Amino acid sequence: MKILLRQIEAPLEYSEDELLAAAAHRLECDRQLIISCEIVRRSLDSRPRRSQPVFVFTLELEMNSAFKLQQTNNKDVEILTEETATPQPQPFKSLPDGFNRPVVVGAGPAGLMAALHLAEMGCRPILIERGCRAEERRAVVDAFWRDGAFNSENNTLFGEGGAGLFSDGKLTARSKDRPRIKQFFETLVKCGAPQEILIDSEPHLGSDVLLKIVPNIRQMIEKYGGETRYNTTLTHIFTENGNIKGIEAGGHKITTENLILATGHSARDVYHLLAESEATLQAKPFAVGIRLEIPQKQINLAQYGKFATHERLGAASFKLTRRPEKDLRACYSFCMCPGGLVIACASEEGALTTNGMSYSARKSVWGNAAFIVPIEPADFAGCPGAEKHPELAGLNFQIAMEKAAFKAGGSDFNVPALRLKDFLADKISASLPNDRSCPRSVPASFNSILPDFVIATLRGALPRMLRELNTVEPSSIIAYAAETRSSSPVRVVRKDNGESPSLGGLFPAGEGAGYAGGIVSSAVDGLKAAELMIEKMRIS
Ligand SMILES: Cc1cc2nc3c(=O)[nH]c(=O)nc-3n(C[C@H](O)[C@H](O)[C@H](O)COP(=O)(O)OP(=O)(O)OC[C@H]3O[C@@H](n4cnc5c(N)ncnc54)[C@H](O)[C@@H]3O)c2cc1C
Repeated sequence: MKILLRQIEAPLEYSEDELLAAAAHRLECDRQLIISCEIVRRSLDSRPRRSQPVFVFTLELEMNSAFKLQQTNNKDVEILTEETATPQPQPFKSLPDGFNRPVVVGAGPAGLMAALHLAEMGCRPILIERGCRAEERRAVVDAFWRDGAFNSENNTLFGEGGAGLFSDGKLTARSKDRPRIKQFFETLVKCGAPQEILIDSEPHLGSDVLLKIVPNIRQMIEKYGGETRYNTTLTHIFTENGNIKGIEAGGHKITTENLILATGHSARDVYHLLAESEATLQAKPFAVGIRLEIPQKQINLAQYGKFATHERLGAASFKLTRRPEKDLRACYSFCMCPGGLVIACASEEGALTTNGMSYSARKSVWGNAAFIVPIEPADFAGCPGAEKHPELAGLNFQIAMEKAAFKAGGSDFNVPALRLKDFLADKISASLPNDRSCPRSVPASFNSILPDFVIATLRGALPRMLRELNTVEPSSIIAYAAETRSSSPVRVVRKDNGESPSLGGLFPAGEGAGYAGGIVSSAVDGLKAAELMIEKMRIS
């Protein structure tokens, strides 16, 4: 008999023996009746009401036939029934008549997973990426952070691995699509990620590990018959009678009837290509704000109390939210990077945005998180420059903030920064802490960068939100501006079958399509787009 046992608690320095003892105690049985024990999930509970932090486990146990379940109505105990394996679709031996090789554009999480699935299913996809291979990206990005040397095709946002390569590599997702999340995580593990990501409730990779995983995903795509083309930018989409007929990329035409577009939400040129084609686009809400950098020791103390220095507790994170009140909008923390770095990001000349990343060890003395304020389409409707394509007005709204940030930082990709107390008092800081994680940052007012209602909301909400982290000292916090790319301001509309309603064969996927956000949900979305494309080819 197999049993799923939830809510088993064990101390931070638990041993396998202690875990088995706790399981047997909960099941009111002899330990010898447990034949095997597998950890399915592990989360940390460090809430202040506890005398000390503990790990909370979900275990899968194989029990001896002599075992009798005592508590039949306990919701933490579930008898597992033998799963009948769902028949897996067979890979194509060759593509069905009338179809050329499918094309996937963009080698971020969505495009990589889409291309891998298509390759495994015998579709021999062609994966197009405007930037270079992950291994070559590091030097290009380092030159940008060190000297402000900007490259429009290879940067923090463009290149193999996508926006997720120089990231915190948090693998948390709101998506409830468990089977596809599992498939993605198992792919990551096959390609070099630690096994723990399969069980941890807040899995994390770090940029150094991602840099090793991404080339292995590429090799798998190629092994299964996919082709990868780097430094190759999509510049045109050919259509005929409302259907995809091919693309132009890197100066060459590729004929295809099936296109997965996974170009992320920084590829503004692609939104313009789509607006000129028959694709249906819609403006959508997003959020903007600033990124705060807080001493990690203070965050650990706020979250773990006297256990803050325990060696089995990693750098702590937090999530803070503030509801709207009177004239202020809501505000929430986003993309928290414990033990991380604040970074400058850019995908076009003369425009600058911020974000956060970390390495697997999360050892930086700072933690950082964006604090962002929701923006509705009504806020940017009529934004100058979007008269021809009003559905793209959110892009113009973002660009205006990013250009202002670039200018405020001195027009050389230095990030505008302030001590938080100065931002709150509307003053320009005389200096910034020398050990800040983003050394190419300069004191500058944020007033010309963000809309007044965003500045007012942040000034009103931040002191109250930060009070929840009671050991965090506001005077030691640095603020960086501006956080503009929390999610896509445009949705590339699609039907339930994954295709554009107005352009047959176009499968918009990932964050740029406006239906996903974050590494996991984008990867899962890419995988699903590939499945739907295969289904279409099978029934045609
Ligand atoms: C600094 C940073 C840190 C982040 N940290 C996290 C995190 O810790 N956890 C998390 O879940 N999310 C994080 N995110 C968000 C996450 O990275 C994105 O949600 C995710 O990468 C989106 O995946 P995607 O494949 O849809 O698009 P992208 O990752 O943006 O990939 C799109 C790809 O398309 C390519 N492309 C664009 N235009 C063209 C064209 N015309 N021709 C050819 N190729 C093109 C780009 O070069 C790029 O490689 C972070 C983002 C940033 C920027």
